[in-house]
Amino acid sequence: MNLLISIACLWGLMFSAQAADTYPSRVVTLVVPFTAGGPTDVLARTLAASMSKTFGQTVVVENRIGAGGTIGAGIVAKAAPTGYTFLLHHTGMATAPALYRKLSYDPLKDFEYVSQLVDVPMTLVARRDFAPKTGKELLDYLKTQKEKVNLAHSGPGAVSHLCAMLLQQALGVQMTTVSYQGTAPALTALVGGHVDVLCDQTTQTIPHVKAQRIKLYAAATRKRIGALPDTPTLDELGLKGFEVVVWHGVYAPKGTPKEAIDKFGAALRAALKDPVVTKRLVELGAQIVPESKQTPAALRDWLKAEIDKWTPIVKQAGVYAE
Ligand code: ASP
Repeated sequence: MNLLISIACLWGLMFSAQAADTYPSRVVTLVVPFTAGGPTDVLARTLAASMSKTFGQTVVVENRIGAGGTIGAGIVAKAAPTGYTFLLHHTGMATAPALYRKLSYDPLKDFEYVSQLVDVPMTLVARRDFAPKTGKELLDYLKTQKEKVNLAHSGPGAVSHLCAMLLQQALGVQMTTVSYQGTAPALTALVGGHVDVLCDQTTQTIPHVKAQRIKLYAAATRKRIGALPDTPTLDELGLKGFEVVVWHGVYAPKGTPKEAIDKFGAALRAALKDPVVTKRLVELGAQIVPESKQTPAALRDWLKAEIDKWTPIVKQAGVYAE
């Protein structure tokens, strides 16, 4: 019996050593739980393009959308832990457990952790012909004309929803909210004038602001954003302490071999040093996290701390998704 177990272990070791030698032997999928063209997708595609150069295989971004990012995260949690499926997700990984009464996965139990990536601040933008002229006027308008305002977001679990919820709470108002499956379609609606206001990451808003397709009112941060030095913060405009900076991490299904985590992680870290990537990310207002945060253990600890941070805030706001 013992001999049988030893033979099985030996075979397992030989198999994993062999797999480690040949990994990656086929295309690797990086799941993004929001629509193509949105901020999470832009980040994933920027990194994937660079990774494919050092990783020895193509990294393909797949958009598995819906329910504020929880559908894509659930798909990866249940995927086979082969080393060929990864998830790129943001702060929503930490807010979903408080927002959803039933969640199909446990962020702290059902994943392996690869690396933290970048922090991206949020901005408050509106359709180009929206009446308020300044950030101050916008906040007054949202307070006094709340029943006329449509506020777009990507559903509970999305950071645009979190920001919308905190904004309404800070202003003491309730606006009409319109949900999309990512902020790419929300932004298209904003450009088309079908919705009024959106809170979204700079990685998507900056190019549209530069092209004058939308109006930028404020940074949803305490300190001004380096890439937008002339834009006032919500804190400056009177919403003291308001800050939504979005962090990002890469995960794999629980049980994914360490060799795969290490090699995929190494390619990710190389991409975060690629001058083409860093230039693009800096232009889009993103900040690459220090190397000490680019480890599996740092991501796991950060996620736990963020769940502990956001759970009481979300519960106090009284927002739930079914
Ligand atoms: N910006 C989105 C969010 O609100 C996600 C996306 O579309 O990438 O979470």
